[in-house]
Amino acid sequence: MDKQQKTRSRSATRPSTKRGANPAASSHKKGHGGKFVTAINCMDGRVQLPVINWMMQNLSADYVDMITEPGPDKILAEGSAAAQASIKSRVLISVNKHGSDTILMVSHDDCAGNPVTREEHERQLRQCLARIRSWKLPVKKVLGAWIDDTWRVELVEASD
Ligand SMILES: [Zn+2]
Repeated sequence: MDKQQKTRSRSATRPSTKRGANPAASSHKKGHGGKFVTAINCMDGRVQLPVINWMMQNLSADYVDMITEPGPDKILAEGSAAAQASIKSRVLISVNKHGSDTILMVSHDDCAGNPVTREEHERQLRQCLARIRSWKLPVKKVLGAWIDDTWRVELVEASD
């Protein structure tokens, strides 16, 4: 039997004691207020917050547009043209619609989607950076980062 019976009928939500003004009202911004940046990151759940936090702290970003793939460094360095075009199309949305001025390309330790040595990751990472730069995007920075086994973000290569 896979029919689930509603055994729990929660009686009412907690009584809410509304205090003060709605904070959302005062912090509301028109349109895309705030600074966007772009990360091409792995889908691995362990590297999401480290990248977001690093970019917010080091690039004064308000929002991080996250483009994820399993092992994105391998895909952008050696993947099919279609797979690379898919990443590029998402980067373009971030740059053109959100005004992102910085792209961070990420490789990380213990990557299930691309289980190669750190040296190989870094070789691919540099290829990725060259490819991203070849797109001639209207951005200020294209950065490369390595995330180690303690989930610390380390800049591998930067260019302006
Ligand atoms: Zn990964």
